Amino acid sequence: MNNFDYYNPTKVVFGKDTYERIASEIALHTKGKNVLITYGGGSIKSNGVYDKVMASLKEYNVLEFGGIEPNPQYETCMKAIKLIQENEIDFVLAVGGGSVIDGTKFIAAGATYAGDPWDVLMRKEGCAFTDSLPFGTVLTLPATGSEMNSGAVISRDELKEKRTMGGPQSFPKFSFLDPTVVATLPKRQIANGITDAFMHTLEQYLTYPTENKLQERIAEGILMTLIETAPKVMEDPSNYEHAANLMWCATMALNGTLRAGVAYDWATHMIGHELTALHGIDHARTLAIIAPRLYEVKFENKKEKLVQYGERVWGATDNKAQDAIVKTKLFFESLGIDTNISDYDTNNADTPKIIRQRFEERGWTALGERGDLTPKEAERIVEMAL
Ligand code: NAP
Ligand code: FE
Repeated sequence: MNNFDYYNPTKVVFGKDTYERIASEIALHTKGKNVLITYGGGSIKSNGVYDKVMASLKEYNVLEFGGIEPNPQYETCMKAIKLIQENEIDFVLAVGGGSVIDGTKFIAAGATYAGDPWDVLMRKEGCAFTDSLPFGTVLTLPATGSEMNSGAVISRDELKEKRTMGGPQSFPKFSFLDPTVVATLPKRQIANGITDAFMHTLEQYLTYPTENKLQERIAEGILMTLIETAPKVMEDPSNYEHAANLMWCATMALNGTLRAGVAYDWATHMIGHELTALHGIDHARTLAIIAPRLYEVKFENKKEKLVQYGERVWGATDNKAQDAIVKTKLFFESLGIDTNISDYDTNNADTPKIIRQRFEERGWTALGERGDLTPKEAERIVEMAL
């Protein structure tokens, strides 16, 4: 087992009828009374979440910032930073899915940053967030795990960039996870959530066999629970128990538990982010497109672990490694997710080359768990996925 630090200060409040506790959780982190709530395109206003959250914030002066897009945009977040700076905000409450939560991480850290926050996203030398306004979340979409981790992904469409940020300052102080929110989710978003959680688990599991018995069994447990729960929650999103299982899987898949002491990959995410930046494909769908091809290209690296995954998770009996790849792709397709780039955008002939060039420019020459996935291989993976 590799050495590791394990740190996760986010308090999770899980279950139904809990939002009345939001105010008392905020009070643990600030004596101030000015709260900014951040949200997306308005789903929280039609599904009742907004009213319940506002009812709990009666003692606070609440300012609102709506309109954070799926794949939160830098320019939009900068407007929220300005609002915070003009209004002496004490606490930020994100109400939404991964995009609203990620956007809020950037906003809360950016509001305390003296320089240009874009430099942090571009990893300019000497530029990093080290501080943040305190913030909490009310999760409305089980998918990204952002509610219990310190990472975020911010897009800038006019530059076709999608960049990551993070650090210990960016953990939510608390997150409210009420599975009843799943009932109002469009099927497309439920499928995306299952896929993203599945892929977060695979990125930290499908590397090479280790002696990390517990981490491997936890990962397999999440994968098997998702496989079992997926058709049920797709069929009936209002079933509380199915929604609760999905929601806790998605949080556990990316809250630091699986990464402790293991080798992790993340190349599927790095390539996937480029597909979102170039073609606007939903995050989870980019992963379903890339992963099966990446596993083919890195087959020799991953063969032994693919066998274990095939055997333990899918019950494969022959040709276990290959079967595992096929079953993974079929699983995504069973959720209604198309797994070729052309299914989303046929204007894609240059995409493999552009992604290779971007990786070369950024010096991303050694991705994957062994640091041996090259820009040329990334190009090949994307070509196979056209
Ligand atoms: P999302 O982009 O937050 O939301 C997708 C759509 O679902 C939005 O239109 C949203 O509407 C709607 N929605 C959310 N909750 C709803 C509800 N309860 N009922 C009805 N509609 C609802 O989706 P996401 O998959 O959670 O987040 C994706 C983003 O997270 C990507 O940018 C991805 O790169 C990033 N990500 C972050 C991490 C991390 O660890 N930080 C990990 C993986 C991915 P509204 O706009 O109205 O809210
Ligand atoms: Fe993801």
